[in-house]
Amino acid sequence: MSLDNNTDVATRFLFEQADIRGETVALKQSFEQLTENHGYSETVRALLGQFAAAVVLISNNLKYRGKIILQAQSQGDLSLLMVECTSEAAIRGIARGDVSTERDDPWELLAGGQLAITIERENGPRYQGIIALDTHSLAAALDDYFLQSEQLNTRFWLSANSEYAAGLMLQQLPAQLNQDASAREDQWQHAVILADTVQASDLLTLAPDALIYRLYHQDPIRLYPATSVSFHCPCSRERSHSALLLLPLVELEEMLEDDGHIDMQCDMCGQAYRFLRSDFTELADTRILH
Ligand SMILES: [Zn+2]
Repeated sequence: MSLDNNTDVATRFLFEQADIRGETVALKQSFEQLTENHGYSETVRALLGQFAAAVVLISNNLKYRGKIILQAQSQGDLSLLMVECTSEAAIRGIARGDVSTERDDPWELLAGGQLAITIERENGPRYQGIIALDTHSLAAALDDYFLQSEQLNTRFWLSANSEYAAGLMLQQLPAQLNQDASAREDQWQHAVILADTVQASDLLTLAPDALIYRLYHQDPIRLYPATSVSFHCPCSRERSHSALLLLPLVELEEMLEDDGHIDMQCDMCGQAYRFLRSDFTELADTRILH
């Protein structure tokens, strides 16, 4: 099965005889929508693709409504790169800075940067962890982060070109099936060594089922139904309106007097919103006062 008919899905799997879970993701259309119309270079697209694949892999384990945000800030060519994924598997994201730069290694675009992983829970607490991007790849940075924060062995394999974004994650689960520490370690190493045989090009050409079969056809694996991943931006006219109302009314007045309207455009999806004086009843009130 080729990747083309199996994109924009995340597939979770479980080792039946080891305390290890895994997940694959392959994005095409949602990745295209996330990166189109921004003037991104191929290098920037590839980096956004790695972030998109990673954030889907991380968020698919969310047990409540909310979202995960992966946000890098750097002194390099890109001042900011952010991709988020909701518990409904909707992604959006953006890169800021010199977004047309090409590099051999996309990672260089975020030189000397920091990565923040934020877990936002609907009607709940917000958690944020920050790590230095001193590793050689996003996958390595995330491996370190999970080992430190969750005390669980976690490994990521991420790959993206200008068309596809894909990834594989393995995570050791708390001891349940197997209590013996050295047997657990052997099982973990077995799973990782096989996953390490995956080439970046395999991730970008094999369908999720085919990838999992190729790696683990000798291990009993339980495959879960795939989750659809889509691009969605929750921006709205109402939210833009509320954002404008945070400005001093005098400033709104000035903007309206200059052009007769105020145009706002969403950075992430490009949606444009136009507001006229009649959209702001608050302004009418101030004029009466004067
Ligand atoms: Zn938007």
